[in-house]
Amino acid sequence: SKRAVWGPLVGAVDQGTSSTRFLVFNSKTAELLSHHQVEIKQEFPREGWVEQDPKEILHSVYECIEKTCEKLGQLNIDISNIKAIGVSNQRETTVVWDKITGEPLYNAVVWLDLRTQSTVESLSKRIPGNNNFVKSKTGLPLSTYFSAVKLHWLLDNVRKVQKAVEDKRALFGTIDSWLIWSLTGGVSGGVHCTDVTNASRTMLFNIHSLEWDKQLCDFFGIPMEILPNVRSSSEIYGLMKAGALEGVPISGCLGDQSAALVGQMCFQIGQAKNTYGTGCFLLCNTGHKCVFSDHGLLTTVAYKLGRDKPVYYALEGSVAIAGAVVRWLRDNLGIIKTSEEIEKLAKEVGTSYGCYFVPAFSGLYAPYWEPSARGIICGLTQFTNKCHIAFAALEAVCFQTREILDAMNRDCGIPLSHLQVDGGMTGNKILMQLQADILCIPVVKPSMPETTALGAAMAAGAAEGVNVWSLELEDLSAVTMERFEPQINAEESEIRYSTWKKAVMKSMGWVT
Ligand code: ADP
Repeated sequence: SKRAVWGPLVGAVDQGTSSTRFLVFNSKTAELLSHHQVEIKQEFPREGWVEQDPKEILHSVYECIEKTCEKLGQLNIDISNIKAIGVSNQRETTVVWDKITGEPLYNAVVWLDLRTQSTVESLSKRIPGNNNFVKSKTGLPLSTYFSAVKLHWLLDNVRKVQKAVEDKRALFGTIDSWLIWSLTGGVSGGVHCTDVTNASRTMLFNIHSLEWDKQLCDFFGIPMEILPNVRSSSEIYGLMKAGALEGVPISGCLGDQSAALVGQMCFQIGQAKNTYGTGCFLLCNTGHKCVFSDHGLLTTVAYKLGRDKPVYYALEGSVAIAGAVVRWLRDNLGIIKTSEEIEKLAKEVGTSYGCYFVPAFSGLYAPYWEPSARGIICGLTQFTNKCHIAFAALEAVCFQTREILDAMNRDCGIPLSHLQVDGGMTGNKILMQLQADILCIPVVKPSMPETTALGAAMAAGAAEGVNVWSLELEDLSAVTMERFEPQINAEESEIRYSTWKKAVMKSMGWVT
């Protein structure tokens, strides 16, 4: 006999840079019932290049769905209770595929990839009119980070992509588009769409009119017919074509950082969250207004939860390397065997002993946007050991967050009284305590850390025609929180922070 579950269920795909997850929530209680996770390979074919296999990503999604459904079966939960599926995804990562064969025409070029640095330099010399041309339309600085330059590179350098465009067989998408097209049927009728949040990270999307921008497409040399249709973040896009959940509507789609903002229920102007995954992203809801930063932050679409619902914008501070530095210590230096082990090392010493680690592996993002920066470890002495380096790596994540929080406070005028956090790294208690110490404000973490998936599930469940999740009823007071209070004095924190800034200056100008 099947266990009675009170309320319909909603599934969420969380396709991140490090891993894919599928999670199933109860739409009435937001309780996480079951999930499955698979790590994703990252390929580094050349220095600065970062690629992933789109087919591996797609298979990992199917695998996670199947395994989660099996687990639900073991819990005696009937999977026919799953009424909708949401998708949240790593943003900007660029895929081009053939719509006749369904085959990707190149690996996915990951957001961290730096191959387009010279493209960015030559494009920036050709910006028409005033220098504000790109930023005023997209909210973004011209950088290797966003999809347009990656797509420009693919069109310039990959014969198969050029040929498919000539033959009118090419489709472009970020990971959400690739997944939704494939999951809804691929070559036999897949839906080619994206949502406003993912579109706002391509650098081809006008965040005011919420449409692809002809002038931007011309500037980047992108044929508009390969772009997906832009939809809201919460509506039925299509139905699952295969697998255990065949026939279930996919009805939510949000870039991972937007999904986390929704999952943390930051629906009011001024509410903010910081997510610690591969990178680190602080988003602050600015309501229906686009706020442009004077301090290196991005202006981006936060969400639009329904075709007829208004759009919300966010200010965003993006840090390229956060959890990735832990993965680097694991995979490249081998000083830890698992990411979790870094906590043990850091705890052993409780200080970096004057060692500073600036993990500018992909240049520096916010607030510097400095592509010439590269990683440095400095302040080393005979005494420094791997534990100090591990500690410095965690501290780097906290200092980078402090820099974006400072910028956010300057742009918004009202300083944040506490920081809401989530993401894979927030299981690390030393990191959370260090963060509170370095910010001098409390750090607050929901006990259910899968807020990215929760946000996607909420959007999917709230969609017109699904209507199993009512966002109006969301109440933060029901969520249990873990709090980390600052424990060092502000003066000590200030000294460490200013030494960090000195280290950052030394990381710049390595690449010319
Ligand atoms: P993404 O969404 O970018 O795929 P996740 O939110 O899944 O990232 O977080 C994974 C990242 O967090 C990895 O880079 C991993 O190294 C790091 N990480 C996971 N657990 C810990 C931990 N306990 N301490 C430090 N870093 C961790």
